[in-house]
Amino acid sequence: MRKPFVGGNWKMNLDGAAARTLADDVARAVAADKLDRACDVAIFPPFVYLPHVFNVLRDRSSSVMLGAQDFWPEPNGAFTGEVSLAQLKDCGVQVVLAGHSERRHVIGEGDELINRKTRAALAAGFAVILCIGEKLDERAAGKTDEVNQRQLRAGLAGVPIEHAARLTIAYEPVWAIGTGKNATPADAQAAQAKVRSELGSIFSPEAASRIRIQYGGSMKAGNAAETLAQNDVDGGLIGGASLKADEFVAIVSAAAAAPRGR
Ligand code: PEP
Repeated sequence: MRKPFVGGNWKMNLDGAAARTLADDVARAVAADKLDRACDVAIFPPFVYLPHVFNVLRDRSSSVMLGAQDFWPEPNGAFTGEVSLAQLKDCGVQVVLAGHSERRHVIGEGDELINRKTRAALAAGFAVILCIGEKLDERAAGKTDEVNQRQLRAGLAGVPIEHAARLTIAYEPVWAIGTGKNATPADAQAAQAKVRSELGSIFSPEAASRIRIQYGGSMKAGNAAETLAQNDVDGGLIGGASLKADEFVAIVSAAAAAPRGR
């Protein structure tokens, strides 16, 4: 049985005080409603606020995991402006994103770099959320599954099956991110069932049955429950709606209450 996993990607938003308040509100609500019994939760603040948020989560003895939105795969050296996995570990980070669509399509990261990042983070013991998803023109051309398959194969090349237990996939159709448009629950389920079957060929059907696949793309409290009820939707990666504690916690509650048995 896969425990749902909901992540809040704060992107390049908030200041230090707002980051502390948001982390505190999320941690308090998750603990008060014991949501962590039925759902894993992570928040991904901007790098500079990782220590602020770490302190808040530690002071509340929170089960909410601290995540980083990005990192550089080399251990150290002349990589101006970059942050290493060891530095993130030092800040208490447990989970990292790789291949987020804004890094792929705004910053220009390619499959080869995303693969290096994914392998490095898994080898260093982090939980990794590998993000994949098609652009609007690719969807219009009927290439959703082809794009997902290519990004999965490239992103996971050389990842040993023993590391699959720490891997989560986020299926995030690029046209749905931050746009207010979201895939229908049936579309998300269809794409994610194909993703699971591809994970079965990459690793093994047994390993694939344990890997959590999140949906991401304009998920909000009002539209989350139906998507989260789909068999192959094991939680969500949330951008805009993760910046409001009540909205984010409502999505976590919907994931915790989603029907089980998968
Ligand atoms: C994201 O950034 O991963 C995301 C899904 O953003 P939003 O929820 O704002 O579409």
